[in-house]
Amino acid sequence: MKKKVENIDKVVSELPLACLDETAAVEFMEKQRDWDKHPACPHCGSIEVSKMKDKSGGRNKRFLWRCHDLDCRKQYTVRIDTVFEDSRVPLKIWCHAFWAACSSKNGVSALQIRRECGVTYKTALFIMHRIRYAMTAPEQQEKLQGTIEADETYVGGKPRFRGVSLRGRGTPKTPVIALVERNGGVRTRVIPNVTAAALKTELRKEVKLSSRIITDESPLYNNATNVFWGGHEKVCHSRREYVRGDIYTNTAESFFARLKRGLYGTYHSVSKRHLHRYVSEFGFRWDTRKLNDGERITKAIKGAEGKRLTYREPIRRSA
Ligand SMILES: [Zn+2]
Repeated sequence: MKKKVENIDKVVSELPLACLDETAAVEFMEKQRDWDKHPACPHCGSIEVSKMKDKSGGRNKRFLWRCHDLDCRKQYTVRIDTVFEDSRVPLKIWCHAFWAACSSKNGVSALQIRRECGVTYKTALFIMHRIRYAMTAPEQQEKLQGTIEADETYVGGKPRFRGVSLRGRGTPKTPVIALVERNGGVRTRVIPNVTAAALKTELRKEVKLSSRIITDESPLYNNATNVFWGGHEKVCHSRREYVRGDIYTNTAESFFARLKRGLYGTYHSVSKRHLHRYVSEFGFRWDTRKLNDGERITKAIKGAEGKRLTYREPIRRSA
């Protein structure tokens, strides 16, 4: 019993209060950005900064900070330069939504956030799109290496011909590629068509040349993989061969199974336009599968930094 108490996730233990009280929520977010220990001005980098006070000596109502650098002297809040900068939704609601998104296996729908937080559906969708964006991996990431399983799947689309859906290449569904490092991370891409050129581009962009690539028997991979020193092994699914020693694509298939369970179970229908965000959300969940919920939340909120959305997306119900 004592052990259980020691194992209580510190970050998660602060969340119940942060989801109810705005001051606690602001301080929680500041902590995730490391401002409790190392606050620095986001405009000029100066460490001569302080929290602004109100007349009674308490914290300023808008939770402002001030930079004391003589050339800067700017005011800002913890929202600056994040996915929630242009939102007026209280941070306690953002805390709740980050918590829900990071502690669920299959994702959280905007409907659930609407119900739990008492916000409109449009607001809930706005929040969840931005959390997914925070979960998107940065552009410059270290390449995958070792044994890489490469595979593709097809998602979305309505069942056709009275409930019988078409499968495989050449269907109206949208293709998603996954490159999965054994015991490591995943890289995903939503592409218009599965072509040898698209597979080649993805593999070379995301995987070190010393790697060994494992695929199914699709000839599309032949040209894409011939530069990898580790070789290219195939498992022949059409001959009902699924595992030959350590040659299999089961890890990639298990990623796709989780992705589909989430897409169809939680989100029901996702438009093509937004699909890449949902796919990267499941990539994030896969990459952080060995972390506890608190570590995952910290990572997601850190990922919200530097990602102020610079475009306005029309939000539609179908998303
Ligand atoms: Zn400054």
